[in-house]
Amino acid sequence: MSGTDEIRDVIIIGGGPAGYTAALYAARAELSPLVIEGFQWGGQLMVTSDVENYPGYPDGVMGPEMMQDFRRQAERFGAEFVTDDVTAVDFSQRPFRITVHKDVHLARTVIVATGASARWLGLESEQRLQGRGVSACATCDGAFFKEKEIVVVGGGDSAFEEALFLTRFGTKVTLVHRRSDFRASQIMVSRARANPKIELLTPYAVDEVLGDISVTGLRLRNTETGELREIGAQGFFVAIGHDPNTSLFLDQLDHDENGYLLTKPGSTETNVPGVFAVGDVQDHIYRQAITAAGSGCMGALDAERYLAELESETDAVAA
Ligand code: NAP
Repeated sequence: MSGTDEIRDVIIIGGGPAGYTAALYAARAELSPLVIEGFQWGGQLMVTSDVENYPGYPDGVMGPEMMQDFRRQAERFGAEFVTDDVTAVDFSQRPFRITVHKDVHLARTVIVATGASARWLGLESEQRLQGRGVSACATCDGAFFKEKEIVVVGGGDSAFEEALFLTRFGTKVTLVHRRSDFRASQIMVSRARANPKIELLTPYAVDEVLGDISVTGLRLRNTETGELREIGAQGFFVAIGHDPNTSLFLDQLDHDENGYLLTKPGSTETNVPGVFAVGDVQDHIYRQAITAAGSGCMGALDAERYLAELESETDAVAA
């Protein structure tokens, strides 16, 4: 085992809006945070093009550029970074132990900000055309498809919510789902059925996203008959759910049935005192950069308060 014997006040796991905001606040509180930001740091915004809904950027900003700004701002106040993935955590002993391959880092508090990942269909064409018509976030990218034809894939509440939202922009929104039954709540399905801009197309799976430079359409396969058909579209939104990046924590932190970490209402505290969870890893509802950043700020303030209490308890014992 290598690593360091130094015990950090704060270690932040994850380098997205939540993690970097937690780092900024912790650094300015002189807690010298270490951010283990992940090999692919930056989070979901690294696969977004223009971000137009983050306050303070009236002309919009590219997602990766914004994440670099977040990172630089935390670095300016002394945050340090390890650009690698955490491989194990041990919250059963104090200080907490965070392992990155052969290195073990020790911390009095840990802020978990590992985010969530959109589920993708797994098609090569889907990956190649990401940011060129393929998106997993209608709130982020819907406005780029004004007066265009849009397809949404998925049959849950997210897909219906996205389809309804996208009718603000597109001339037509086709929701494609692999089964004729929908997982979404009845009210969402009824709303979509009542919307003249929405067509529900079932039971179809997406076989291919068509287009060389940008999306021009989709090849669909009827899951019952095998029939193939092509439809035109310039926007393609994948809304088949998100998965929180929590596999490292499931046996140690309380979580819901989908793996999202549970925090005490109105705070970022998990069931382990001194371990906090911020951003999308504990939020399956809002999932915005701005809400993740706000939650990261809360996590740093909660950690700071926890450390202050720890110190006053230690002082009381010593006195
Ligand atoms: P979800 O409920 O898990 O639905 C995912 C949908 O994607 C399902 O219809 C599933 O099809 C389909 N799907 C999954 N993998 C697929 C694949 N590889 N190819 C094609 N289709 C695939 O996820 P969600 O819609 O993101 O919702 C997650 C949770 O958030 C739910 O509890 C939901 O109620 C909640 N939510 C609520 C609201 C709201 O109340 N306003 C809005 C959004 C989300 P099958 O049905 O065939 O499995």
